[in-house]
Amino acid sequence: MSNNHASTRQPLPSLTGGAGGGSASTRQPLPSLMGGVGGGSAPLPDGRGTGVGLLFIDRDGTILQEPADEQIDSFEKFHFVPGAISALRFLRQHTDYRFVMVSNQDGLGTPSYPEEDFWPTHNLMLEILAGEGVTFDDILIDRSFPEDNLPTRKPGTAMLTKYMDGSYDLANSYVIGDRESDAQLAKNLGCKALIIGLTPGPSPVGEGSSAHCASYIVHSWQQIAEMVYAGVRQATVTRTTKETDIAVSVNLDGTGKSSISTGLGFFDHMLEQIAKHGSIDLDIRVKGDLHVDEHHTIEDTALALGEALLKALGDKRGIERYGFSKDGASAAVEYTLPMDDCLCSVALDFGGRPWLVWDAEFHRERVGEMPTEMFLHFFKSLSDAARMNLNIKAEGQNEHHKIEGIFKALARALRMAVRRDIHHMQLPSSKGVL
Ligand SMILES: [Mg+2]
Repeated sequence: MSNNHASTRQPLPSLTGGAGGGSASTRQPLPSLMGGVGGGSAPLPDGRGTGVGLLFIDRDGTILQEPADEQIDSFEKFHFVPGAISALRFLRQHTDYRFVMVSNQDGLGTPSYPEEDFWPTHNLMLEILAGEGVTFDDILIDRSFPEDNLPTRKPGTAMLTKYMDGSYDLANSYVIGDRESDAQLAKNLGCKALIIGLTPGPSPVGEGSSAHCASYIVHSWQQIAEMVYAGVRQATVTRTTKETDIAVSVNLDGTGKSSISTGLGFFDHMLEQIAKHGSIDLDIRVKGDLHVDEHHTIEDTALALGEALLKALGDKRGIERYGFSKDGASAAVEYTLPMDDCLCSVALDFGGRPWLVWDAEFHRERVGEMPTEMFLHFFKSLSDAARMNLNIKAEGQNEHHKIEGIFKALARALRMAVRRDIHHMQLPSSKGVL
């Protein structure tokens, strides 16, 4: 992404009062902003035919906190959503996305929502944002009531037709909002949605979303900045042999949701630990030759999962790389996790070189349907496919606790290693490649 926003991001004078932030007198509501049918601004002065991406940004509940009565009509109700200003500032500085505010303001201009109750706080918001370098290329407000069923009202797209003529890169654009109607707007536009949810996210909203108009629930503006700037880290791997048929989907920026079916209950339970404690969304479907034994099912699942992790990491820019470093040292430090009588440690390095150190003894033949000899084999295969260095140690008596503790410690180490910092998007390697 280039940094040429200075030439492409001039706010339209008619919308924001000019590049200097404008005076109060230039921010009076303009007919073009007052929405309703056909509401909108003049076309953008440039950007057509350049494949420019767009951020369609909701206002209430997204930039400003939404009060219970859903009307920000006084300064007492004027509060920014935490993190909104800094994330918008970051995205303005580091991306070329156009910023388009799209807001429903029910009954604006009617006795139920007089103009004079709306504009003072709206203009203050714009002034504060402009002071941080956050300007909008377009601001579109629909002022109809839900019962009017106007096509301009979100999730309708009638205010946004100028962005739907093929000149913009909608597949790589986002609606950022807080409601299902924002997710629906994204679907109607053919772009992605980032929905600020009450529960930690992100995870896909709804079933059957295509990659182009997938919706994600996110828990913070920080996460929005990460996902817009550095992309969504998910990957799907399918692996079909005469022995197994496997599909694995991974979302490294997930919430720990999982749907796992390998045909082996205990193995499913262990893989769920990776999702839950790694805050990674995992979908794993395995049809293995269990009539032979469990070997191929476990080994091939590890290979597919490792490949999916590696693929989702992409070029690894900005990641922590190491599984745990509690003292801030550069070398990997073990993530140590107790589980009743057991103490399990996992350290990992996504340095590109597979290696497994395994220091755990099991004396039972099986835990559940899982042969204990397959534990080492699982982690060896995972390390090979993900090209990571895995160092695993476990001590204790209870075999179930021991292996579960290992999976949980692995999950925690993964969670730390894949964490990324968009303010430092360098490769965590002096070699320049991982
Ligand atoms: Mg909203």
